[in-house]
Formats: sequence, C-alpha cells, structure tokens
Amino acid sequence: MARRRSEKCFREVFASGSHFQIGKTIGRECRDQALKMEKLFKSGMNDPGGMGFKKAIAYSKKSLPMSRQFCPESVEELEGYAEGTGIDFDTIYAMSCDYPQEGRGRGCTDICVNSEWTKDDVVYAVHNEDVGPYNQPFITIAHIRPKDEPAILAMNYGGIWPTAGMNSAGISLTGNALEPNDLRLGIPKGIPCRKVLRETSIYKALMASMPEGRGHSFNNIVCDSNGEIYSMEGSATAFDALYAEEGWMIHTNHYLSPKMWKFEANLHTRFSSIVRYNRAKRLFRRELGEVDMSTFKRVLSDHVGYYESICRHADPELGEWDQTKTIFSVAFDLTNKVAWVCWGNPCEGEYRKYEI
Ligand SMILES: [Zn+2]
Repeated sequence: MARRRSEKCFREVFASGSHFQIGKTIGRECRDQALKMEKLFKSGMNDPGGMGFKKAIAYSKKSLPMSRQFCPESVEELEGYAEGTGIDFDTIYAMSCDYPQEGRGRGCTDICVNSEWTKDDVVYAVHNEDVGPYNQPFITIAHIRPKDEPAILAMNYGGIWPTAGMNSAGISLTGNALEPNDLRLGIPKGIPCRKVLRETSIYKALMASMPEGRGHSFNNIVCDSNGEIYSMEGSATAFDALYAEEGWMIHTNHYLSPKMWKFEANLHTRFSSIVRYNRAKRLFRRELGEVDMSTFKRVLSDHVGYYESICRHADPELGEWDQTKTIFSVAFDLTNKVAWVCWGNPCEGEYRKYEI
C-alpha cells in the first residue's frame, strides 16, 4: 500500500514477503515513477552521446549473471518490479546499470558521527542527495520487510533503487558518487547498495559494499549502531576502507585516500566537492560534543560556494540537464532506528520523522 502525505513529502511504499513479491508490490505502487524514468532512460540512451537503447540492453545483459551470483535477492526484486510496473525485465535491469559518461561534478555530501560526540548518545549517518532537479519526483520512501531478513527503511528511486537506507539491525548505507577512471563491465554500483541493507553485521556489510567483479563503485558509507563508521572508497578495480578514527567523518565526491588518487577521472570537475568537503568539516567540527538534529540542519543548509554549496541549488546559467540540486536530506539515527527526512533543500524544508 502506498501512502501519500501532503505535497511536500515523499511518497511511502510498504512491501513485504519474498523478494519477488516485494519488487512486484513496489512496482505496482510506483508504476508512474518507473514509466517516467524509463522514458528518460530511453531518450538519454538515444541522444547523441548515448550508446543507443538497444546497445544498452545488450551491454547490460552481460553483467546480469554476475549480479545474480552476487545478490540474487536484488535481481529477484527487479524481476518482481518488472512484473509490477509492466516494463520488461531487460529494460529494468538496463536501467539499474552504469554506462560510461562524463561526470559533471554532481554529487552528495555525507556526515557520520558516533555517540561520543552527540547530545543524546546517538549514532547518525546523514546525507544530502544532490542530483539533477528532475529526479525529485522519482524518490519514494520504501518500508521493506523481507522474510527472515532485517526490515529496511530506504530512500529509493522509483521505489526500488536505494540511494540511502538503514535496517532494523542498525546497519546504514549512505554515500556519494565518485568518478573512477577504471570502469569495466561488471556488477553495477547500485546492487551492492541493496545488498548492504540485508546484512546484520558490519563485517558482512563491508563485504557487501565492495564485491570483486564490480564494474563501477560509489563511495559506500557503511555504519552500524555501535558507531563503526567506514567510508568505502571504491573504483572498479581497487578500494580503500577509510575508518572514522576520531568518531566522525565527512565525505563528498572526490577520493580522499592517497591510494585511490590515481583512479580519479578528472579532479578538475571536483571543485564543488572540494569546497563542500572542507566547509562541512569546518562547520561540523565546531559542534562536536553537542551534535543533534539542529546541527545537521545548520551544516547541510550552508550556502558557501552557492550554487554548488553543501545545500545545492540549480544554477540558472546551466541547462536543465546539467543542473544539480539537493532533492532531499536524510539523517539516520541508528541508535533509535529512526530516519529524519527533509523534502527538497534543507535550507527550506523541515526534517520529518519516519520509523522502521
Ligand atoms: Zn539551500
């Protein structure tokens, strides 16, 4: 059952049962989002510069056996989603895959902090989602209860593709986009995000975040309710596991680990990331020991470097497809298993509470 609150909230979808059933339920409830995303995907692929829709189908199919072997549950959900939306599975899987493209400096800001620095002894994983503004209507808050696995609350594109989430075992998945230069055919970067949210221990969650045989990678930030905080900076062929030694961490969209510098595709496209990283660090450091939701609201609403600030706004000088905007902000409280979600820019909206 989907529940729509007032206009300035994200849709919510509730799904349970087998992975296929979960995908099917979400597909039925989010069919309108899926159809619009499918249309954009097809036109993007058929644009000059795209690889062509038919080629994308053929290309993506090659990674399917690897995805199925790594996380069959995720593929089953996508199969159910295809049935629920009425879109054929090959297209749904192709929409789940990565394609070579020039990074336009898009990307998100993340903050994680453990209980020693927070007012109420809470572990937080916090994320601003910064993408093309046209993506905002595609986000659904998914409440997922798989059989014999932890329950999940996630911010999902089309209801099915997670970009940030947590589970009832206290594991969170947040993170940001990187632009590695070693892309190859392999497991798409979205599949590990889904797999992390199945796990019940930090050990397994870290393994899930960085499979061998991947074709691309996000910087997957993986935390648990004990306050273990890892930034898994991946490319297709290498990674570094950055640990929050001091109990807190900021990450944006460039490689921080010297081991990974050689995988940065083009640092000249990362100026927004550099500004957001340093600015967030400086603002957040001041609040250590007193951190609560008002801290995140302040830091994540910051406008230094506007339009490409921590709270990002669409630059009117750029074309619609090149703009970036913060479409939501989310704080996962891993101690109380609660998510605080702000629709749109955090400088304008309020954080609302959602329980797993
Ligand atoms: Zn703003």
